[in-house]
Amino acid sequence: MKDCVLIKDLFPLYKEELLREEAAKILKVHFKECENCRKGYERYCKKEQEKEEIIRKKQEEKDRGFLKLLRSYRKIFRFLVGTLAILTVTLSTLLFLFAALVINGGWAKRSKDIADYPEILTKEQNMRTGFFVFPKTLGEEIVDSTFDYYYKDTLFDPTISVFLQVTYKKEGYEAEVKRLEEVKKTQSGEVKLLLRDDGENYPYSAYIAVENHNYSYEYALLSGKHQITYIYTLHVPREKIKFDTKYLPSDYMTEEGRAFGSGYSIYRANKGESVISYDYNREE
Ligand SMILES: [Zn+2]
Repeated sequence: MKDCVLIKDLFPLYKEELLREEAAKILKVHFKECENCRKGYERYCKKEQEKEEIIRKKQEEKDRGFLKLLRSYRKIFRFLVGTLAILTVTLSTLLFLFAALVINGGWAKRSKDIADYPEILTKEQNMRTGFFVFPKTLGEEIVDSTFDYYYKDTLFDPTISVFLQVTYKKEGYEAEVKRLEEVKKTQSGEVKLLLRDDGENYPYSAYIAVENHNYSYEYALLSGKHQITYIYTLHVPREKIKFDTKYLPSDYMTEEGRAFGSGYSIYRANKGESVISYDYNREE
């Protein structure tokens, strides 16, 4: 029985095979002889196994919990990335629209309705030019008319073109030509008349208020029997002209040859070196 107590204390070392060979042999022999110790050892082994099992299960649970946490983090991460992507797309779309609308001036405006002519004439007159060559009103002396107005705002300068073609009754035509002959601008003592071109540079006899000055053109063409074609363009190269290009002068600015032109302008008077500023007063 004394041996049995010692043997019992050696169970852990024996199970883990940590005993010296001779000691292990003693235990082996004892187990054969002593049923009590043999069964005791079996119980010990079983208990140890159960303990290990519990530890393993606990570890597994821990691992599962960790995986679960990881998966939920991943879900949150994916959600955040998705939201961020949507936000980015939305923001860039808004930015693009903002650029298109506010910075780039929005969509182009176009009208072919002659009824819009008086309003456009007044509006543009306050902005860029005096429309000296254009008729102020379209009265009863008109037989037919074609109108095409285009306006596109940009970051710096708007792109504008006004095309007006009018066929007059005989008297109306004669009165209109007379008016064009007499249009003049006085600035600081300098009197300017509309420039004349008898079909050399222009396709028809032309009365010119602005010719390649600051990217602008403004002129009237005697384009047919009792017909006058009035044109105003600003920042529109030949390639982007909206009306028939046959009404343009031969040296009209092209996209490539687009440079700040200092050609003729009835609105400007040069005095010495300095340039007198714009004055659109039609009544002068
Ligand atoms: Zn024993």
